[in-house]
Amino acid sequence: MKKIVLASNNRGKLAELQAMLAPLSVELVRQADLGVGEAEEPFRTFVENALAKARFAARHTGLPALADDAGLCVDAFGGLPGVDTAYYATQFGYPKGDDTNVQALLEQMQGIDQRRAAMVSTLVAVRSPEDPEPLIAVGRVVGEIARERRGHNGFGFDPIMFIPEFGQTFAELPVEVKNAHSHRGRAARQMLELMRERWF
Ligand code: IMP
Repeated sequence: MKKIVLASNNRGKLAELQAMLAPLSVELVRQADLGVGEAEEPFRTFVENALAKARFAARHTGLPALADDAGLCVDAFGGLPGVDTAYYATQFGYPKGDDTNVQALLEQMQGIDQRRAAMVSTLVAVRSPEDPEPLIAVGRVVGEIARERRGHNGFGFDPIMFIPEFGQTFAELPVEVKNAHSHRGRAARQMLELMRERWF
C-alpha cells in the first residue's frame, strides 16, 4: 500500500481524510507518528500555508505529503478571519478556543445584516519537497452566520454556521450529512480525483 504523510496531527482529520481517500488504497500516516514536528504557517493565504506544510512534511519524511489549511471567510469582513480563524478570539482578549471564537464572532457581527460566510478547506499534495506541480483542491461551503447558537454536533463554528439549503446549522445536522456537504469533504473529493488522474 502506498504511504502518504499527513501534515497534521489532528486525529479527526486523519480519520476523515483516510476514509475519503480509501478508493486509492493509500495509507495516510500522521507526521507526528514519523517523528516530525509542526511546520511554520507564516503566510496570509490558505494555499501558501498548506503548501509550506506539505513541503515540510515531505522533506522530513521522504514520502509524498498531504496538508490542509482551513478557516472561515466572512464576506462583511473582506474574507477575514481566514488563516487567522483558529486564533480569532484572541484578537479580542479571549482565550483561544471554539467557544470563545463563536462568542467573539457573534459580538463582532452584532448589527451586521450581511451575514454570508464560507468555510474553506484547501488541500495541497506534493510528491517530493521540490515538486514543481503540487495538487491543489479547494472546497467551500457557503452559509450565513446565525444570530445565536443552534445544535450540539460538530465543532468550531458549526453552531452558528447556518446552511440555507438545509434550513439548519451544521451543528444541528447529522455528522454524515455535514461531512457529505462540508468544505473538507468537497476538497477531499477533488483531491481524490486529482491524485487518481495525476499520481496513480
Ligand atoms: P483547522 O485548520 O481545520 O484546524 O481549522 C481552522 C479553524 O476553522 C478552527 O478554528 C476550526 O475550529 C474552524 N473549522 C475548521 N473546520 C470547521 C468545521 O467543519 N466547522 C466549523 N469550524 C471549523
